[in-house]
Amino acid sequence: MEQVSSHTPGYASWQGDVWLGHCGEACIFLGYVGSKELAPVWAEVRDDAVASGWGEDTIQHHMHKDGDMTGYLFQCQHCGKHRLHVDAN
Ligand SMILES: [Zn+2]
Repeated sequence: MEQVSSHTPGYASWQGDVWLGHCGEACIFLGYVGSKELAPVWAEVRDDAVASGWGEDTIQHHMHKDGDMTGYLFQCQHCGKHRLHVDAN
C-alpha cells in the first residue's frame, strides 16, 4: 500500500477543522469540491451529503468548489471509500 498519509495537506475550513475517518483511521484529504467534482463519487458520498443537513439536492447540483458552500472530499486509506464534509460561510 502506498504511503500517502504523510502527504496529506492540512486545510482550513470556515467552521474549524473537521477531519473525517473511515475504517477506524483518519481519511486522506483530497481537496475542495463542488457538485461537478462529486458526480463520479456521488454514490459513495450521498450518505454524508444527506447527513450534512445542507440538502442533498443543493449539494448534488448547486455547490461550487469556490462558492459560499464548499465540499471537502476525503478518501479512506484502507478501503478507498470517498467521504464528504460540507461547509459554508
Ligand atoms: Zn474505509
